[in-house]
Amino acid sequence: MRRLLPLLVCPLAFGAEPAKPNPIIPGTNWQVHDMNRPKPAKVEAGKASCQASPAPKGAVVLLDGKGTDAWVPRGGKKPQVWPVKDGVMVATANDIKTKDAFGSGRYHVEWRIPAGRKVSGQSGGNSGFFLLERYEVQILESFDNVTYADGQAAALYGQYPPASNASLPQGEWQSYDIDFEAPVFAEDGKLIKPAVVTVVHNGITVHDRQELMGISTHKRVATYAKHPPTAPLALQFHGDPIEFRNIWHLPR
Ligand code: MG
Repeated sequence: MRRLLPLLVCPLAFGAEPAKPNPIIPGTNWQVHDMNRPKPAKVEAGKASCQASPAPKGAVVLLDGKGTDAWVPRGGKKPQVWPVKDGVMVATANDIKTKDAFGSGRYHVEWRIPAGRKVSGQSGGNSGFFLLERYEVQILESFDNVTYADGQAAALYGQYPPASNASLPQGEWQSYDIDFEAPVFAEDGKLIKPAVVTVVHNGITVHDRQELMGISTHKRVATYAKHPPTAPLALQFHGDPIEFRNIWHLPR
């Protein structure tokens, strides 16, 4: 009887399941969002704050501080586009996405964690830059904030930490310059060529032609599902008032 007692108080006996560990990322020793995965070393980005980088000739301007004509809400209870004030767009509610669809090419975004944010891990300073609405380059306060390596700033979320932590402090403008090659699918949905991405964070290359494992996901191993070669660019609302200024796309 004494031996049986632990079984009676075990949650399994009442149908509750213990928390499952996240799956191992194929080809690595790490679980998805593994806190033990080595964190990239900090590097000095070289500038106190990133200079504004207006769109080059031929680029599609998606945000220039003057308005939000290029954007529409993406879901949400009271769908709205984020307001622009003093040339800065501030995340306020629901995700947003571009009206138009884009594919392979160069993407540029400038973002800022407002000064004075109280942050902890994934909370307090989180947004995301979603290429083709599916592939997230993480936006996070990672200058003075520890989280799992595949979820820090400039991580290809849930897959690859950046090679270096080029983060700047709260209140400073930061930039991503991203070269993206959309994945290619066969008619029947089979993947012919994965998405390939290069990310430059504040002037430092942190992903160099990295092949993505699939569509960004949380606590699961990423896989692909067939989609068109172009789709809107989306920005994530994670509850935090992250700020944006120049965003542009130069198609290939
Ligand atoms: Mg995010």
